[in-house]
Formats: sequence, C-alpha cells, structure tokens
Amino acid sequence: MRDSRLDPLFAEATALPGVGPKVAKALTRLLGAPPGGDVPRVIDVLFHAPTGGVDRRTRSTIADMRPGETTLVEAVVERHQPPRSPRAPYRVVVADGTGAMTLVFFRAKAPLLEHLLPVGATRWIAGAPEMFDGMPQMVHPAHVLDADGLARLPPVEPTYPLVEGLTHNLISRLARAALERLPALPEWLDGAFLAQRGFAGFAASLNALHRPARPEELAPEGPALTRLAYDELFANQLALQLVRAHMKRARGRASVGDDRVTRAVLAALPFQLTGAQERALDAIRADLAADARMLRLLQGDVGSGKTVVALLAAAVVIEAGRQAALMAPTEILARQHLATLEPLAEKAGVRLGLLTGREKGRERAAVLERLAAGQIDLLIGTHALFQDDVAFRDLALAVMDEQHKFGVRQRLALAAKGAAVDVLVMTATPIPRTLALTAFGDMDQSALDEKPPGRTPIDTRLVSLDRLEETIAAIGRAIDAGARVYWVCPLVEQSETLDVAAAQDRFAELSDAFPGRVGLVHGKMKAAEKDSAVAAFVEGRSSILVATTVIEVGVNVPEATIMVIEHAERFGLAQLHQLRGRVGRGAERSTCLLLWKGPLGETAKARLETLRDTDDGFVIAEKDLELRGEGEVLGARQSGMAVFRFARMEVHGELARIAHQDAGLILATDPNLAGERGEALRLLLHLFERDAAVRLLRAG
Ligand code: ADP
Ligand code: MG
Repeated sequence: MRDSRLDPLFAEATALPGVGPKVAKALTRLLGAPPGGDVPRVIDVLFHAPTGGVDRRTRSTIADMRPGETTLVEAVVERHQPPRSPRAPYRVVVADGTGAMTLVFFRAKAPLLEHLLPVGATRWIAGAPEMFDGMPQMVHPAHVLDADGLARLPPVEPTYPLVEGLTHNLISRLARAALERLPALPEWLDGAFLAQRGFAGFAASLNALHRPARPEELAPEGPALTRLAYDELFANQLALQLVRAHMKRARGRASVGDDRVTRAVLAALPFQLTGAQERALDAIRADLAADARMLRLLQGDVGSGKTVVALLAAAVVIEAGRQAALMAPTEILARQHLATLEPLAEKAGVRLGLLTGREKGRERAAVLERLAAGQIDLLIGTHALFQDDVAFRDLALAVMDEQHKFGVRQRLALAAKGAAVDVLVMTATPIPRTLALTAFGDMDQSALDEKPPGRTPIDTRLVSLDRLEETIAAIGRAIDAGARVYWVCPLVEQSETLDVAAAQDRFAELSDAFPGRVGLVHGKMKAAEKDSAVAAFVEGRSSILVATTVIEVGVNVPEATIMVIEHAERFGLAQLHQLRGRVGRGAERSTCLLLWKGPLGETAKARLETLRDTDDGFVIAEKDLELRGEGEVLGARQSGMAVFRFARMEVHGELARIAHQDAGLILATDPNLAGERGEALRLLLHLFERDAAVRLLRAG
C-alpha cells in the first residue's frame, strides 16, 4: 500500500483548478495516460520538467530590441487601429522615448483591448519582437501588464514542452498548484551527499524547477534537475536491486559438471577460446556452481563469439544431468543456432531439439514428449518456448540471445519455467556502461571485449545514392569474381508493407541486372520461403540477398563479404553496426557500403561518420547514446525498460553509478527498508512508481 500522504499526488489532474475535460484531454496528449487510467495525475504534471525559462528581468528600449529575442519593454499606449475587415488584425501602437512599436492581435475584442491598453497609459509588454515594414511589432505579446501586474510577474517564467491546447502559462499554473499539494516528506538522501553536491531537498528542487529564480536553474546539469535525476536513478537502482535480491533469495541449485561434455565441445572446436570468452565462462561456471540463482548479462559485439559461450555454459548443466534452453528472438536465428551447434553437439553427445512457432502438430508433440522425458539436453527456440504446455524434465539454465528484443517481463517468465533456473542473457548491442546499470542493474555482467583473432577489419564507405548505378555495376563485377552480397533496404515510413515493397522493387531491379543470381527475404514471406532464400545464399546458389532488416540479427554466412545498406541515413547507429556485423566473419576482406540520400542532417552525418571510423561496438554505443539519448537507445517503451522523466544518461550518467553503489550499501544494511531512512526510501520508490519493488519488500 502506498503511504496515504502521497494520495494527493496520485489523484487525477482534474483535481487541479482549471482542469476541465478539454484541458485534461490535452494533458493526456502531452503527458500520456498513466498506468491504469486515462487522465494524467497531479504527479505527472509535477514531474513535467520545463526545458527552459524566460527571464522577465531582461528589459530593453524599443530601439534596442532584437528580433526574435524575448524581452520586456516599458511603453506608453499611443493609439488603437481597429481592423478594417474582420480578418485583419487589431493594432495598437505603443512608444517609448526611443521609438514606436505595433502590437498585433488577431480576432481580438475591441473592448477588451481598450481596457488592457488605454491610450496614454504606461504598460510593460513582454514578448519577442519582429520587424514588419521597417517597424518593430509583437504579435500577441506574452504579457501586457500594468504596474500591479509587473509586481506580480515571476522573475523567470519556465517554458514547457507543449501540445496544442496548452500554454506555458497554463502548465506553469498547474505545476504551481501541484506543488501546493506536495506533502512534507522526510529526506531520503544522505545529508553529507546533499551538502557535497549542493542539492536542495526534493520539494525545494521541484519548486526551483517550476518557480525558477534564474533561467540557469533549469539547465539539465543544474542542481534542481540533477537532484531529481538522482532521485529517479536511485529509485530505479533500489528497485532493480530489490528484484535481484528477491530472485537470489529464491534459492538456486548448484550445477557442477564433470567436464565430459565441455572437453568434447572444446576438442571439436576448430579454434581456441579468446581470453574474453574464457573469462566469461569462468564467471558463468562459478555462478552455476553456486547455490544462488545466476542472473548474468553477457555483452559482446557481433562476431565476438557468444554462441560458443552459451553452448559451453549449457555443457555444465548437461553434465549435471539437467537441461538447458537457448532462446532466439527470430526463427531464422533459432535455426541458424541449430545449424551451428549441430556438428559440435553431435561430437559431444549433446541431444538438441528445436521449437519455434513453425513446429506444429505431431512434430511439436514429439519435441515436447522428448523434452519432458529428458531426451533433449538443449532446446533451441523462439518465444514459442514460453508457451504453457512446454514442460522440461529439469530445466536448469536458460540462455536468451539478443536480450534487447526481449523485455524484462519475459526475463521473469522464463525464470519461472523451471525450479530455480539460472539465467544468462546475451546481447550483441553493446550498452554504454551507465545504461547497462540502469537497465540491467539486477544482473551481473560479463563482456566479450576481445574479437576472435584473424578478422580483417571491414572497409566501410559512404556512398551517395546518386551513384546507385555505379554501385550496382561494381557489385556486378564483385559477384562475377565470386563475392556474396547482402543488400539491405530500410523501413519506409515505419510501414512494413511499404518496406517490403521497396525491397521487392530493389529485388526486381537487381534481378534484371543479374538474372537468377538474386534472392529476397523479408518479414512478410512465409517461413519456408525465407528459409529457402537464405539457404540458397548460404550455399552460394544466389550471390545477392536483398533483405529488409530481418537479417539484422544473427544470420551467419562467413562467405558474404559485401554489405550494402540502402538509405543508411534512416537507420540508427546501433542497427547499422549490427547489420555491418553480418560481413567480416571470414578471413577475407569485407566491404560495407552505406548508401545515403542527402541532404543529411547533422546527426545523420555524425552517425554515418562514426560508423565509417570505428567498428568497436562499445565506442559506437557511447556515441549512439550521445546522439540519441537513452530512451531510444534502449528502444525503451517497446521492451519495457526504464524510461526516465528527469534523468538523461548523456548528462547524468555518472550519477547512475553512484546511485548503484548507494542502493547497494543501503540494502546491505537494511534489506527490508525498515529503518528510518528505509521508510523514506519507500516513499521515493512510490513517487517514481516502483511499487512492484515495494511489494517484494513486504513479501520479503
Ligand atoms: P556472436 O553471436 O557473438 O555474434 P558467434 O557466436 O556467431 O558471434 O561467432 C561468430 C563467429 O566466430 C562464428 O563463426 C564462430 O564460430 C567464430 N568464433 C567464435 N569464437 C571464436 C574464437 N575464439 N576464435 C575464432 N573464431 C571464433
Ligand atoms: Mg549470436
């Protein structure tokens, strides 16, 4: 149960003065519907941070005003010019000693303006001027004030992100009304830390946000926003670590192998493990051998060799007489895993099974039967593994590949599939360190930060789409010389149908140029068609594989040496990096052509140049974060990962680490948040809606 002191904050925003149905609707458009409701709540308004502020103390004379710059002018009203036609504006001319200015009002009511701006009166007028016919004017000035109004004007007016139907003024008023409903709360941060950082209290920080004394106070790195960002990150870390503690408390089982399968797999590998692979495996084996539950994230760039690590982890539980599952986000990838692992498994005596959406009827029943009987040691599959009737005899390890395509919810669902299942999640999208903490703070982490030897770097080039014909001709020469080429077409307007159409067009065009040598694979094809197109490419029966981003994840064709990405400017940095990782898997030199269409914006240009200049996934991930902000890097909403209201990783990333440590320290001394500070921290968890974590506490 939430502390009743917080109830006024979680009431609907209609509780605030001036919020009727119309404003409520606009607020929903601005702030989104809260969980389980339609109308944003008081707290949503309170947590809607301004992005800047206008300093009303900036004054100028009419002669000194600069177009576009907001200012406050003291002037005397000279005359009114009512409109000559209904659609023309109403004009009022004002002047100070230095010049005259026109105030312009559309659809204005004359009596109102006569009252507001009586001829001969002094008024203070705020707004951003522009030049019109050689004369300064202000269209709908933000304020027209008399001396009393001026005295009441706040020195700095915050400006908020808006949608139609709302004004800065209105949001500002609502935020102030929301502030009044903020109850007195105990401080949950450490006093010494507050002092060291120069942070004010929670309420004072919110107050500074909505009633700033100086515009600088609204900067993301200013003390008010930084304190609130810290609160938010801290709540997030506490919640993650509470979940983690809860999972760990649900005792795990020690799986200790006898090395039989491990040795056989190692002997069958045509290569030595890299140091990074060894290190990751040591950590995993230690986790498996421990009583506690394993929850580990394995990060490794494309091609860093995660699959083998997964197999060797599975080997341990198989040696212990138990089962493992390897889950991939797509069917293609699941099949690819099966194909890669089959020869190794055969030599090591590991029995594999496959379960995707495509196994149906008798085939599926047979897999389930073998699974339940313990005749499958390692089951490879997709989301289909989550289905209720999938029962293992004794599942001990679940490996999820490409974690970012799965959500936190799936992580928990999978863990429920067996008794104390150890969980290893693998991601090929390196996550910047700070983000890894906020999104995966509940997990231990290993990184494969070392590529297998013998890879030649990929030659990445930026090519204008204007040179498409030349590019096609060059591709023709390359395939005549035996090359295999991926040709990726992008999402068009986020529409899968258009997306497919673009790929089909490109396929038709390339097929005309190179008859019989081009394949096509996209998301709307039947599974069997997809397979046969991929198989033809794998076997070299086709030389060019035109694809939508379905190939993004995981397809492994070491013979492919050329990657063409059409409209590369439309892709995100991480996605381009993933796609490029499809080539450069063999010993031969590979090329990636990023076909771009201008004009390129600053960010798009920076993305493409980053990609051209480095192939280190961790560097790319940091750059991606810098260019896009964390919400998008994590694909936050889709995957149910943390999205923050105040914290921006590119600004507050350093705080995430501190919050991580701080949360760890607190939970070490007060695991149930029962002490005085613990009580305050429960309020914090509720304020940032980590209620689920609080429930774990009570169940504790
Ligand atoms: P990831 O899943 O991390 O993208 P994979 O597991 O698909 O990478 O490995 C990419 C390729 O590298 C595979 O062909 C794999 O056999 C090979 N590989 C893995 N580990 C090593 C190693 N230590 N030395 C040489 N090649 C390796
Ligand atoms: Mg992989």
